[in-house]
Order: sequence, then C-alpha cells, then structure tokens
Amino acid sequence: MKNKKVGTILCHDEERFLHGPVVPPIYQNSLFTFENWDAIDKAFDAKAESYIYSRLLNPTVEVAEKKIAELCKGEKAKLCASGIAAVTSAILHCVSAGDHIVAVENIYGPTNNFIGTYLKSKFNISVTYVDGTNTTQFEEALRDNTKLIYLESPASLTFELQDLKAVTALAKRNGIKTIIDNTWATPIFQNPLSLGVDIEVHSVSKYLCGHSDVVAGVIISTKNIIDAIIQAEHELFGAKMAPFEGWLILRSLRTLELRMERHMQNAMAIAKHLDKHPNVDRVFYPGLSSFQQYELGQNQMRGYSGLLSFKLATSDISKIKAFVNALQIFKIGVSWGGHDSLVYAPVISYLKELSPDRFEAMGIDASIIRISVGLEGVEDLIRDLDQALDY
Ligand SMILES: *Cc1c(COP(=O)(O)O)cnc(C)c1O
Repeated sequence: MKNKKVGTILCHDEERFLHGPVVPPIYQNSLFTFENWDAIDKAFDAKAESYIYSRLLNPTVEVAEKKIAELCKGEKAKLCASGIAAVTSAILHCVSAGDHIVAVENIYGPTNNFIGTYLKSKFNISVTYVDGTNTTQFEEALRDNTKLIYLESPASLTFELQDLKAVTALAKRNGIKTIIDNTWATPIFQNPLSLGVDIEVHSVSKYLCGHSDVVAGVIISTKNIIDAIIQAEHELFGAKMAPFEGWLILRSLRTLELRMERHMQNAMAIAKHLDKHPNVDRVFYPGLSSFQQYELGQNQMRGYSGLLSFKLATSDISKIKAFVNALQIFKIGVSWGGHDSLVYAPVISYLKELSPDRFEAMGIDASIIRISVGLEGVEDLIRDLDQALDY
C-alpha cells in the first residue's frame, strides 16, 4: 500500500516469517549459511542488502529499519549501536582531512566534541559555529573547503531552530551536504528529508525507543548514501545493532505516535504552568506562543516533544540544588525521551565536558534546569514541580 498513515506504518508488518508469528522473531545468529557456491557468490554482489553476516544486516533489525525509513520519508535507514555512532558515521561520510564544517552552536555535547576537538586534532578539519537562528549566518561562515552543514533543530537545551528549507537551499547551491539531528522532534513531528536535508540522524535511545531500556541510533537518507555508509563507516567502526535491541525498538515503534501525543500534551501543560510561575524566570519550549521562533516552528514542525528547559529565578546554587533534590516524581538523570520524567542541571556535566568558553558561548548558566516530561499523570507532575519550586 502507498502513502500509509503513520499508525499503519508503525503497527502493520509487511514481512511474513516462518510459521506466521504475529511479531517478527529475534534472529539471534551471527551468520547466514548458503545452499551452494553460486548463492553466496550472488549475495556478495549486493553486500549491503544480503543476509551474510549480522554485522551488516539482520532480519529483525531490518524490519525496524524499513519502518523508520518509511516514517522519515527516506529511501533507507540503518540502525546503529548508539546515537553517537549514527552521528559520527554520518559526519565521517561527508568530510575528509582538511575540510571545513559549519555547525550549530548548541548541538549535543559529544557531537560538539567530535566536530570541534577530535576531527580537528586527528584530521585538521575545522569548524565554524553559528547560532543558526538566521540563515545569513550560515552563508557568511562558508569557505571554499566547506563540505558539511551540521544542524540540530530544535537544539536540545535551549531549542533554537534553523530554517531548514532556507539552509538546505543554501547548501545545495554550494554543493554542500547537510545532516540534521532530529532526535527532539522525532519523525512524528518533523520530516527534515522532505524539507531538503540530505541525512537525518537520531538517538533512538530517546523517543523512538522511549522506554529507557535501549541505547541505539539511526541514520536515514537515500539508498546510495546509506549503502555507502553501511560498507564504510558503519561496518568499519562496528556500529551494528544487536538483534534483541532491534526487536525492542520494533516493540517501541508501535506506540510511538500515541506516546508523542501524550508527551506533547503533558509538556505543553507544564511549560504553560512554569511560564506563569513567579520562581521561574524563563521557559525554553518551542511550543509556547511566546517562544521567539514560534512561527518558524509552526511552519516546519507538526508538534512538540516532551523535553524542555527553564531558568530558575535565582542564581543561588544552594537554592538550585534544593529545587532539584526536592523533586519526587522527576528522577535525577541524564538522557530523556522515556516514559519516566527526569530532571537534569546541565551545569553538572557540561563544565566537565566542554571548555569554559564553549559553555559560555552556549548562553547557559547554573540556573538552567532541563526536564524530560514523561507519560505520568500531568497533574502529579505539576504538583511535584510546585512543591519543589517553593525553594
Ligand atoms: C542522546 C543524544 C545523542 C546521542 O545518542 P546516544 O544514543 O546516547 O549515543 C545524540 N543527539 C542528541 C540530540 C541526543 O540527545
């Protein structure tokens, strides 16, 4: 069937397996055997799409990959062992030694370290950071050797957006590839490939899996690009996904649309509540009509997920700590996108992972708190925040 609804893509499996199990079995095998010489010889002619060895392709993982590709309106998807494996594989596909990258300022911390520190010291690849809210910033940052524009819209801490149509048009005019980390919006709320982006990556550990029980990533693009990545970065750096994790992701995808609707409802109610709270200075959430790029968000997204941040109306570190420690339902932890609500103060690790000037350039400070709004009853979450805000 063509042009299926999202719910049908997620819940209906096209593949039939031996004995007709209602959910695909877990193919827990490292290799596949062949009838004869010609059969394995033929498999090697199409290495990226033949069952030869589970490092390259596994039937259970492949069912999930096909669903994600269709959901993202891409030709092909490749699941990876982690989100950061997806990010680094996609970036390495686009750049070589001596190239230049333009990246958004507030990208995910380890991505930032990979681009800004690792690629620089190992391969003399340079980067120019832009805050990304204005497309001319990208244009001004381009050099003759710019090969990649790296995007994260919304970025996952203060949620700046980039105008995806405008930035990708600029990139195409200059023969430059674009990658977007679409983890925050998910394919339920944003389809960057349809807006002109070349490669979409996700940390599947967040909403796509959604149950805080798997670390995984995915890359989605054209068949040509994905097949090239499969036989280079994905294979050579061992980014493969385990069959059981592929199966857990399939289990999770069936409820993705429902979960995202609930994450949005809960987060929207909390963002509005915090926005009016006297002990909160400012809320960062693209779904609020007061958000500075609200219009752009409305143009390129269909909804808003459950991760948001806010600035407490105090810079007294003992009060900030007291607020975090007083929360009872929100548990303290990194990561986000699961069923369970979480709280985190970025200052705890950012200052250990980033240089002080990068930290300052990100425009954040100790009073910024990030919450991942889960699927609990929203009244309970608001009560919990209110009692802790009584600092
Ligand atoms: C978590 C995260 C990643 C990395 O994903 P892992 O699955 O933890 O390796 C990449 N990008 C964003 C925006 C993230 O939040």
